[in-house]
Amino acid sequence: MNDTAHQQYLVKLLRDVPDFPQPGIIFKDITPLLANPRAVQIVVSEIVRHFKDLRIDAVAAVEARGFILGAMIAQGLNVPFVPIRKAGKLPFHKLTEEYALEYGRAAIEMHTDALPKGARVLIHDDVLATGGTATAAGNLVNRLGAVVAGYSFVINLSFLAGEKNLRSSFLIDPHYLVKV
Ligand code: AMP
Repeated sequence: MNDTAHQQYLVKLLRDVPDFPQPGIIFKDITPLLANPRAVQIVVSEIVRHFKDLRIDAVAAVEARGFILGAMIAQGLNVPFVPIRKAGKLPFHKLTEEYALEYGRAAIEMHTDALPKGARVLIHDDVLATGGTATAAGNLVNRLGAVVAGYSFVINLSFLAGEKNLRSSFLIDPHYLVKV
């Protein structure tokens, strides 16, 4: 399949849920995609293929939906998986970043021993919306002395400024499979 065929195939497996989790938000639900092993394989292998020559040392992914494919991408790249969790969930010493969401505010955390200094990190999540979560994740990586080497998403909500924000904050063009 070429890129357009991939995109058309994947778009059919993403469900729009209007007014979730609050009025006015159209939630992009990836559970139909996760229910399709062939689609999951296409998504993971496409992301692994894109990043395999970019000297990635670790994949950091954001709770909760980012964990699902993020762990598979880390396996595919044969590098460690680093969980970034909502505040209060990680058990060991950690750093915290607060940020604004498309809906509300949040804080995410990473263990202080998660990454060696200078490690080149790929950050993964399912959806890029405003880029607030991805920026906070990148800040955690940088605060540990590691480097954000790439961003990967399944879906880019291009009517929001996430892509532009990551370009200006991290000088990185995020990789994504579907743009809506
Ligand atoms: P943001 O920080 O605004 O880029 O939002 C990204 C985070 O919120 C990701 O973890 C997404 O899973 C989630 N998210 C934001 N907006 C949506 C949406 N419309 N549909 C699904 N997930 C969303």
